[in-house]
Amino acid sequence: MPNKIDLKGLSLEEMERLLADHGEPAYRGRQLFHWIYGRGVATFAEMTDLPVALRARLAEWTDIGGLAPLNRSISRDGTRKYLFGCADGRAIETVLIPDEDRLTACLSTQVGCALACAFCLTGQMGFVRHLQCGEIVDQVLALQRDLQPEERIGNLVLMGMGEPLHNYDAVVKALTILAHPLGLAFPPRRMTLSTVGLVPEIVRLGQSGLGVNLAVSLHAATDDIRDRLVPINRRYPLKELMAALRTYPLPPRRRITFEYVLIDGVNDRPEDARALVRLLRGLQCKVNLLPLNEAPAIPFRRSSQERVETFQRVLKSAGILATIRESRGLDISAACGLLATEINQKSLDTAESLA
Ligand code: SF4
Repeated sequence: MPNKIDLKGLSLEEMERLLADHGEPAYRGRQLFHWIYGRGVATFAEMTDLPVALRARLAEWTDIGGLAPLNRSISRDGTRKYLFGCADGRAIETVLIPDEDRLTACLSTQVGCALACAFCLTGQMGFVRHLQCGEIVDQVLALQRDLQPEERIGNLVLMGMGEPLHNYDAVVKALTILAHPLGLAFPPRRMTLSTVGLVPEIVRLGQSGLGVNLAVSLHAATDDIRDRLVPINRRYPLKELMAALRTYPLPPRRRITFEYVLIDGVNDRPEDARALVRLLRGLQCKVNLLPLNEAPAIPFRRSSQERVETFQRVLKSAGILATIRESRGLDISAACGLLATEINQKSLDTAESLA
């Protein structure tokens, strides 16, 4: 039935209002919210504390949408990449990364991306569309359905396809649902939003009071190099970006994370590291150094291990916490920057079904 309201993606207030408009008390909205997000049910029949008549009426005018699992690849290092189909036939990728005792889920926020970073396959795909709030939240629910009984997702990172702050409203709504005690109850300190630096939205996020962690994909410490690698830098140059970050309201004992992809001969010289030290001086931060994931369509090479270690040494000797991050899931193209969804160029029905 075409005009049904999709409940997946509605906030608590929206569900309460919806039920109130149909003559139901507000607590029914809370029950519905908890069933959909907290318990992750996919049918009204499972909502056993709602009256049978209400369930029947809900089924008439609402729907519980959801992503369709299309494919799952498992890397040699245990990283799992999921391909999910959206209602409009587009597909997105979500990655689950095992890390010591917990799993980190890397979520997508857009199909494709408009920001065209020079080393990123998703950027080369171009922008297709924003994901809706329900599609962002449902990535977590779909992953949870596929976990082993002893497994649980400990961290959420918005670092998959897309620039989360370009899709601000849907992303913030999704984070609110993910953090809500009746929803998925993820503590904000276990959620990280990664941005290339949309300054007005960084300011808005700081003012939102959400309290999630912020990661900034920096990749260069001078405007001339960053303009080449991250074109949005031409609109929001480093001076503006750093001014926004220096006033970002960080919760106590939290740091801003800077991601820095190391590219041979482009941004990996000791003087680049020294420029980074000057840029970050006085900020509560840490730096993740990520040797580039090479791909045939990307016109750069990764830095040698020696260059990476020298770069790290310069940062550490200036008192900056700097970690070299190994790439995960490289053999299944799941690693950061390699999330190009071939499926968006091909027909959906060639995908192997999980079901
Ligand atoms: S690195 Fe992020 S912001 Fe840049 S093109 Fe890729 S997905 Fe978009």
